[in-house]
Amino acid sequence: MPTPVVELENLRKVYKVGVESVAALDGIDLSIEEREMAAIMGASGSGKSTLLNMLGCLDRPTSGSYRLNGYDVGTFSDNRLSDTRGRYIGFVFQSYNLLPQLTAAQNVELPLRYNPRGFDRKQAVKDALERVGLSDRANHRPNQLSGGQQQRVGIARALVGRPSLLLGDEPTGNLDSRSTEEILSLLQELNSRDGMTVILVTHETEVAAATRRIVTLRDGLVLSDEPAEQVPAEEIYRTGVMS
Ligand code: ADP
Ligand code: MG
Repeated sequence: MPTPVVELENLRKVYKVGVESVAALDGIDLSIEEREMAAIMGASGSGKSTLLNMLGCLDRPTSGSYRLNGYDVGTFSDNRLSDTRGRYIGFVFQSYNLLPQLTAAQNVELPLRYNPRGFDRKQAVKDALERVGLSDRANHRPNQLSGGQQQRVGIARALVGRPSLLLGDEPTGNLDSRSTEEILSLLQELNSRDGMTVILVTHETEVAAATRRIVTLRDGLVLSDEPAEQVPAEEIYRTGVMS
């Protein structure tokens, strides 16, 4: 069996708030294989963002283990953890998180400044922008782009370092249904054609329908974990309109 990209065992994350402790994650077991496309769902406060931040090496578990590509990242030093994040993780945010004073190309280039691998930066940026269909917007600033285009820049920035895992926390949460469709279509293509492993946090069933596996959290635990029939992005809202 190949090594899973993500392997969580009894993962817990406890926040101390004053004298109280909140178990945002209360013992998660989860394994995600290469080339999977999965959604993490659940009510507000169920632990979705905490889990995604953990997967993205932005935070460490309180106990339990997280193996990324077979390595127990819980034992890593801060430096090695941030290096791992830079090399292996691509993060896409709900509000894009682009720097307004930089062009699309400069935003996409940013993560490479912290990536020690020998990238031809110019070429990598060009490839990433081309991959998301924005070659002709390289010199535009975020406020000169639509929401959907800004998110495509966000995805190009996530892809530019060739990560093994693409994570999105409500990546279409700020977009109308047409732009959502466009972004989901791109994510499906990155998964099926380019072989990226994609994990999306969402509370929308339409977004989850674009994936092939739905993991539902409740109170920091996995409530259900089911395979799903993937709907092509172009059909998700059309189906909604028809029914
Ligand atoms: P979701 O993304 O599903 O809405 P979160 O992962 O943000 O859920 O939060 C899960 C639980 O952990 C909530 O009860 C939340 O209040 C708590 N929590 C999250 N982050 C922190 C933090 N930094 N400090 C204290 N409590 C937190
Ligand atoms: Mg959240």
